[in-house]
Amino acid sequence: MSSLEDLYREVILDHYRSPRNRGELATPPAIKSEGKNPVCGDELTLFVEIENGVVKDVKMSGVGCSISQASASMMTNSIKGKDTTYARDLIKKFKTLMDIHETNLDSENKKPDTPNELATELGELSALTGVVKFPVRIKCATLSFNTLSNALEAYENDSDPQTASTE
Ligand code: ZN
Repeated sequence: MSSLEDLYREVILDHYRSPRNRGELATPPAIKSEGKNPVCGDELTLFVEIENGVVKDVKMSGVGCSISQASASMMTNSIKGKDTTYARDLIKKFKTLMDIHETNLDSENKKPDTPNELATELGELSALTGVVKFPVRIKCATLSFNTLSNALEAYENDSDPQTASTE
């Protein structure tokens, strides 16, 4: 148990110290989305370039705690090259993982299958599982996903203009 926690801690620290996909992208074509978690002071700016429904490139910049920065780094890794359906699904799964573990802390009857399956599908993002023991940090972990969600929404609301905006 503790060795898994050590591994998780290592993964988080590695992403915190050497964040992946750090930088900016030109807007447009990229969508810029900013997120904040005032409780902890985390700030995140995401640049997501989506072409034909596929995340062609993604960059992020920001300041904050190790959880928020590592989460953003891992999240960008996970969605790069994937389509928006996958990205939406990932957001849902990650939030479910946070929920499940939070509920399990108070209950003796665990549902081991669901979290394990989710953890497998989430890959290295499952390293953030331990965060649910500290409810105030859940917002740090989900910040990048909320920011991504806003970017996807902006893309969907804006995906017609090239064809539709001319009168
Ligand atoms: Zn934080």
